[in-house]
Amino acid sequence: MRTLIKTHRIELKPNAAQAAIFRQCVGASRFAYNWALAEWQRQYQAGEKPNEAALRRQFNAIKPVEFPWILDLPKSVPQQAIKNVGTAFTNFFRRVREGIKPAGYPQFKKPFKRDGARMDNGPGTFSFDGKRIKLAKIGRVKMREPLRFDGEPRSATLSREAGRWFVSVPVLVSLPDLPVVDTRPSAGIDLGIGTAATLSTGEKIDGPKPLKRYLRALKRLSRQHSRKVKGSNNRRKSAARLAKLHARIANIRKDWTHKTTTALTGRFALIGVENLNVKGMMANDKLARSISDVGFYEFRRQVEYKAALSGGVVVVIDRWFPSSKTCNHCGCYRESLPLSVREWTCAECGAVHDRDVNAALNLQRVALASGSCPDSKACGEAGSGRSRKTPVKPASMKQEINLVSIGYG
Ligand SMILES: [Zn+2]
Repeated sequence: MRTLIKTHRIELKPNAAQAAIFRQCVGASRFAYNWALAEWQRQYQAGEKPNEAALRRQFNAIKPVEFPWILDLPKSVPQQAIKNVGTAFTNFFRRVREGIKPAGYPQFKKPFKRDGARMDNGPGTFSFDGKRIKLAKIGRVKMREPLRFDGEPRSATLSREAGRWFVSVPVLVSLPDLPVVDTRPSAGIDLGIGTAATLSTGEKIDGPKPLKRYLRALKRLSRQHSRKVKGSNNRRKSAARLAKLHARIANIRKDWTHKTTTALTGRFALIGVENLNVKGMMANDKLARSISDVGFYEFRRQVEYKAALSGGVVVVIDRWFPSSKTCNHCGCYRESLPLSVREWTCAECGAVHDRDVNAALNLQRVALASGSCPDSKACGEAGSGRSRKTPVKPASMKQEINLVSIGYG
């Protein structure tokens, strides 16, 4: 049986008391992480061989006396933070072994930077009730939307971003058995009208060629149609012509979308796309917009299911993520970037950006940072888009793939 882990990141709407506990939780998580990192370094310098399991036992033994305040919080909070120190060292040692630079020696955590906390003690220790999640020691917390996926919720990780609270819930769902997973690079895809799809590799994929011509014809025909007398023969004829043209346009787009999404999901193991892209659309051009809206939705839907079928991962990034306005080089954010600006220079680091390639690179970065890569070696480092050779998993192995929704809205 092939399983699929779909992660839903849901915005939480805690009341004041719950938000206060959340703040304590992310504080305690950071505290335990920093404690474990300092202790790891101390033990290492003393010639010992630190490991996260021993550090967790050590922390549990001293917490009633040294950190009694932490007993009021879910015990998973410090436990997971200490496990994360172990993972950070494992990753560091692996990168050193593989000669990857920078190797990324684990750093102490600072407040408000990627604040997070593990809130569950495994499946069954938290539950959902419509638009509420029930967490140990906290109770029912309102969510902005209900859990999207059917299956077993595996964990609940709290995070804070720009003053808002989110919970990430990976859900184990079942899929029919499918071909062997292979390993391919990652990519971000920025969808727009001018260039239909821009990849983080710098490639620009043109939209269906004849579409522009047909769209012009469609506009003309719509105008003519609206002038025809209702109930007249002429109006009936023009309605038929209009419907035919609509169908032809739909087919051209469908064909293009199928070919393009098949090619992309074939090439890339991890793909970052935006939920619904409204960039490059003229606000007053309702017709182009309605057609494009449908096109983008269908594009994303096909990328998602085709990636899932080929063992890939699609990270869907909410459209409110400022992918165009963020410099992929230094991460700084630009307040305004009119649609007419196709190329810009970062005021902070001086990097020169093609608007769409920069957006695609940001989508790739978020996809990689989401930790959803089907095989951590498959996707290379952010920005490189480089393929690595890794052994193909045997067909008998349980295949797990991820589908992640990230909400910023
Ligand atoms: Zn920059």
